[in-house]
Amino acid sequence: MSERGAKKFDVLIIGAGPAGIAAACAAAESGASVGIVDDNPGPGGQIWRGLPADENLARKSGHDGEQAEWHARLQRAQVKHFYGTRIVAQGTPGTLVAETYEDTFSFEYKKLILAAGARERFLPFPGWTLPGVMGAGGWQSLVKSGCVPIGNQFRVVIAGSGPLLLAVGAFVYKMDSQVRPQLLMIAEQAPASRIRRFAFKLLGHGKKLLEAMQLRIALAGVPYRTGTWPIRAGGAGKLEWVELTNGQKTWRVECDYLACGFHLVPNTELAELLGCELRGGFVRVNEVQETTAENVFCAGEPVGIGGVETALIEGQIAGYAAAGKSESARKSTRECAAARRFAALLEETFALRGELRELPAADTFVCRCEDVTFARLARHSGWRDAKLHTRCGMGPCQGRVCGPAAEFLFGWKVDSVRPPIFPARVESLAMIGSAKE
Ligand SMILES: Cc1cc2nc3c(=O)[nH]c(=O)nc-3n(C[C@H](O)[C@H](O)[C@H](O)COP(=O)(O)OP(=O)(O)OC[C@H]3O[C@@H](n4cnc5c(N)ncnc54)[C@H](O)[C@@H]3O)c2cc1C
Repeated sequence: MSERGAKKFDVLIIGAGPAGIAAACAAAESGASVGIVDDNPGPGGQIWRGLPADENLARKSGHDGEQAEWHARLQRAQVKHFYGTRIVAQGTPGTLVAETYEDTFSFEYKKLILAAGARERFLPFPGWTLPGVMGAGGWQSLVKSGCVPIGNQFRVVIAGSGPLLLAVGAFVYKMDSQVRPQLLMIAEQAPASRIRRFAFKLLGHGKKLLEAMQLRIALAGVPYRTGTWPIRAGGAGKLEWVELTNGQKTWRVECDYLACGFHLVPNTELAELLGCELRGGFVRVNEVQETTAENVFCAGEPVGIGGVETALIEGQIAGYAAAGKSESARKSTRECAAARRFAALLEETFALRGELRELPAADTFVCRCEDVTFARLARHSGWRDAKLHTRCGMGPCQGRVCGPAAEFLFGWKVDSVRPPIFPARVESLAMIGSAKE
């Protein structure tokens, strides 16, 4: 797969989640030569992770009809895929530097669609680095891939914020009863008043309302505590308990896993590197998903955290537009506007409460890659100053975890994105360097 030389496409898509898959199908069916790149071993992104290559197998292994259909459509479309491949930087204009485990090479594109998705937001609190404390979606992914022990004897608390908490809860309930862990509670930091308002506003989004009702029914026996958040986790060498508060009282729950994430943060690093303008932390696009950078489109979570349905609509629009079928692209713009209103509603509902800024103690690590504590960071005046003096944000995650946390805790802006956007091999660095000469 890793033959050398630039791989050239009319339309190159970064990310094979729902947005990237929809973009690839739309562009390829419109006659463009299309390449799709994802650093995972296969397509599916976060929500459809581990989607088997065969449609029937996909259905049999519990993937729902929509996933299997999109996957079959992707298989039928003339799309060249590059899985296990990561874009690490921009090369010369119109090219990107990519690497696999074995090789470094470049892609050349006429139009680029960024569909890089989102990641969980983590907030530091005492004990958050203990084994057993994980992101909610991260824990789900590890369970799906068989990387963490699971069974009836394990007790799970899901905490943080956002609809992902409910999705992970429902995932637990769908597990075979022989291996299903005990789900003790879901703690949502957003106050009950906002959740009620959200539920009321869902009346204007029929499909979403149905999904929300299905989730609540699936989780009928599980306490869903709004206005509740974790303040401390503890145990001897691994998680044994979590302390939760609702602002008035604090209590301890014994558990083996704390699946904890505070909504999602868009992956905008590549877009920023390519000069795309952001607005409110998201990539700014027009009605056909065009960014402010020439020949660059963006779809899915980097444009707004709106869930799989929004990602699919935006992906299709971007795919058609990038392939020059602007009429087809514009057919879905009304549907897209409604989807974006839903994304805005999510942002408003799951906005973080101020009390969460008080979670870290002086010795709590904020940057867990470089072991930088809250107290060490608090001495600095901004992200750049802190980075220069403490190395925060300079470890393997390149600030993807501590950057959004520092932004929330201190109000710092992560002011620049530099290549490579992921730790890269020396060969890739050389290629990036030679592109600049
Ligand atoms: C950890 C996690 C778990 C989630 N689980 C659920 C769930 O169970 N149910 C639910 O409804 N929603 C879930 N979501 C939300 C869900 O991801 C979105 O609703 C939807 O998948 C968005 O689709 P997307 O195509 O925009 O992004 P994604 O599905 O995130 O796809 C983006 C893809 O781009 C790849 N990528 C990013 N940058 C690069 C690069 N530089 N080079 C190569 N590849 C790159 C990523 O690895 C990823 O595969 C989850 C989100 C997260 C972060």
